[in-house]
Amino acid sequence: MTCTRITIVSVSVILVAAGRGVRAGGAVPKQLADLGGQSMLRRSVAACDAHPAVGELVVVLPAAWVSDGLALVGATRASVRVVAGGDRRQDSTRAGFAAVSDAARIVLVHDAARPFVSRAVIDRVIAAAEQTGASVPAVRVKDTVKRVTAGTSADATRLVAETVPRDEVWLAQTPQGFTREVLAAAIAAGEAGGEATDEAQLVEQMGHEVQVVEGDIRNVKVTTADDIQLAQQATAPRHTRVGTGYDLHRLVPGRTLVLAGVIVPNESGPLGHSDGDVVCHALTDALLGGAAAGDIGGLFPNTDPQWKDAPGLDLLSRAVAFVREKGWRVVNVDVTVVLERPKLFPHVPAVRAKLAETLGVSLDAVSVKAKTNEGVDAIGRGEAIASHAVALLTGDRP
Ligand code: MG
Repeated sequence: MTCTRITIVSVSVILVAAGRGVRAGGAVPKQLADLGGQSMLRRSVAACDAHPAVGELVVVLPAAWVSDGLALVGATRASVRVVAGGDRRQDSTRAGFAAVSDAARIVLVHDAARPFVSRAVIDRVIAAAEQTGASVPAVRVKDTVKRVTAGTSADATRLVAETVPRDEVWLAQTPQGFTREVLAAAIAAGEAGGEATDEAQLVEQMGHEVQVVEGDIRNVKVTTADDIQLAQQATAPRHTRVGTGYDLHRLVPGRTLVLAGVIVPNESGPLGHSDGDVVCHALTDALLGGAAAGDIGGLFPNTDPQWKDAPGLDLLSRAVAFVREKGWRVVNVDVTVVLERPKLFPHVPAVRAKLAETLGVSLDAVSVKAKTNEGVDAIGRGEAIASHAVALLTGDRP
């Protein structure tokens, strides 16, 4: 039997991110600059993916990135293809267009350096593209516009040649929208002609009308190091929360000692229905505490057979997802394990690595410390193991 899955893609977005980002300087390429815990590329992808009419995304990346492309793009609702771009803007658009599915009726071309595009702008672009065949979002100029004598060097003395009537000047943004046929013709014309800084220009050169729709001043193009800094300020999470957690288990002979899923060879281990992973249990409570979302026993009651024997690492990873649902992400954690013996020091790197992976943070955001109880009390006598944890969360919710 043959199964055919027909996908109807009415709007396809070509997301152009093939530049080397040289103007911005900096250690990471501009497209991957961190904006509030997400790369600029991912934010741009997510902004397009969130529009209900968009059925397909074609992401154009530098050739060297294509093999890691899907990981860089992240999870999406719409289908995604990743292709290698070219030297010029129009070469990248052409490469992207070649990968657009046949089902696409309207094709948008969006600059990945505009991560703040809104649904309203995309709506207007699609509507006008359906009407006219080509559309561009643009904003009015607020400043007085001067035409200036061209200077080739950075320190050249420049003079005002004239004042340009302001009403005639609009600043073009993206996404620019086209019917499939118009964009195909413009790309073909571009191959024959000169260089264009946007797709609308290729359409203009063909003598086809391009409809201007209202853009959005927030739909800025993040190009220079200053732009990136401003974008980072705009996306910085506005709220932080801190939570603490504590856990203790009795130690009995013949049980396996597990810390963050890492097995520590020992003659005794924690007593309990579960694996008694004190690191995961304390940290789960710290995350839930930061989000004011109850505690481990409330979220995963051990009276429920589903949770009775669940590994601590599994509960921790569910707690991470749970607080993320509530709008929080982990900034850093600090964990102390109190155990008389054996020495935990050799196991700390493995525990940190496992926690970083589970929490979705970098290794330098995870601290794990081991203490003894100096022979005092039950822990000091080797009868129990305990853990303290602190977690810092950040998010946009008040
Ligand atoms: Mg416990």
